[in-house]
Amino acid sequence: MTTSSTPTGNNTAAALRARIRDVQEAARGVTALYPRSYILQCIKEDRFPDELWQKLGEFGLLGLSIPEEYGGSGGGVLEITALNEALALAGVPTLFLVVTGLARVPIARHGTPEQIRKFVTPTCTGETKMCFAITEPNAGTNSFAMSTLATPDGDGWVLNGQKVFISGARDADHMLVVARTTRAAEVKNRTEGMSLFVLDMKTPGIQLTQLNIQVETAERQYMVFFDNVKLPADALIGEAGKGAKLMFEGLNSERLLAAGAAIGLGDYALAKAVAYAKDRKPFGKPIGSYQALQHRMAQAKAQIEAARLMTYNAAERFDAGEDAGAHANMAKLLGSQAAVAAVEAALQTHGGYGFDRDYDIVTLWPMVRLLEIAPINNEMLLNYIGEHVLGLPKSY
Ligand SMILES: Cc1cc2nc3c(=O)[nH]c(=O)nc-3n(C[C@H](O)[C@H](O)[C@H](O)COP(=O)(O)OP(=O)(O)OC[C@H]3O[C@@H](n4cnc5c(N)ncnc54)[C@H](O)[C@@H]3O)c2cc1C
Repeated sequence: MTTSSTPTGNNTAAALRARIRDVQEAARGVTALYPRSYILQCIKEDRFPDELWQKLGEFGLLGLSIPEEYGGSGGGVLEITALNEALALAGVPTLFLVVTGLARVPIARHGTPEQIRKFVTPTCTGETKMCFAITEPNAGTNSFAMSTLATPDGDGWVLNGQKVFISGARDADHMLVVARTTRAAEVKNRTEGMSLFVLDMKTPGIQLTQLNIQVETAERQYMVFFDNVKLPADALIGEAGKGAKLMFEGLNSERLLAAGAAIGLGDYALAKAVAYAKDRKPFGKPIGSYQALQHRMAQAKAQIEAARLMTYNAAERFDAGEDAGAHANMAKLLGSQAAVAAVEAALQTHGGYGFDRDYDIVTLWPMVRLLEIAPINNEMLLNYIGEHVLGLPKSY
């Protein structure tokens, strides 16, 4: 698809709803061909869902949020979040869309036209895929303490270090890496000295080790080692040492994509719970008529709708170029909590059958719980709200 709307165009409530609806209708065209059963089969075979990805590219959906002049389909983070929600709603969540959506933001906003054409344009058709690497084993949530280091080498750079939990590293063509170009111990302000680089995954010196993570997605997680990886000059996005600000722009977009996935998965789980609750009658009446279950589902539905409003409001702010940090953090916090409430309600409703993998309820639980921890744990979001919205002292 190509969306005629622009992020800063007609933003009445009706126009925003129409933008979301258009994307979600197109997405349903793809998930009708590649439903949950397809993705579960890919997971079983430990392979990337190439057919789904190619179809998303053909439909122009992978190009959402990227301007048409760079081969994208236009629109903003609002549209790509709507896509992520629609995929999750069909039971087809994809971490790749979250990390691609994140990784493309700093390149599209701060890269040169050549870098955008080289690294972003081919992702719009599905020709290439991009993963994102920030987490390190020792630094964890405290990304500023990272030790992966890029040092100047002729015109380019040499990268050494290690990342962990990198989703989709095996299937990606490129990786957006956050590295230090000045060691943490040598900067006055911890946000200084960080830089963003795009790596070709075929570059010698990159080694992957698969982790044993139990989350039902087609993307696996990897420990990634960089051993004297030589990077050309055009691997650097923006200015050396000034990558932190660029990274945060991308992270806000990632939070919204994660919120979209959470509310979609929550609704997916609730739909299954409602269907089961209408049908199951151990005492002669449908269990959905019992308030203990009905209210639990109704509560989760209300939480999902509240999170959805917050998510699209934050996306609209982001696309308008406003500071969307607080709203994006709140959207991811509320979305992930709503998704957990929905899957919990679905599990209770299904009784013992909820634990049978074939009913596909317990299988949703790791994914929604993950969303409370990654891409950023909810405690850090509460820290942000406490400190930056309420003006309370920093707690850590
Ligand atoms: C399936 C999966 C996919 C992932 N994909 C990627 C990816 O593609 N790219 C990438 O770079 N990373 C990825 N990650 C990493 C993820 O973002 C981190 O796991 C997450 O940010 C938390 O870091 P950590 O695991 O080191 O936890 P730690 O930093 O060790 O924190 C552990 C816990 O301590 C608490 N905590 C930590 N700091 C604070 C604080 N300041 N205040 C209050 N509480 C705190 C939180 O409850 C947190 O959950 C992925 C992780 C998983 C599991």
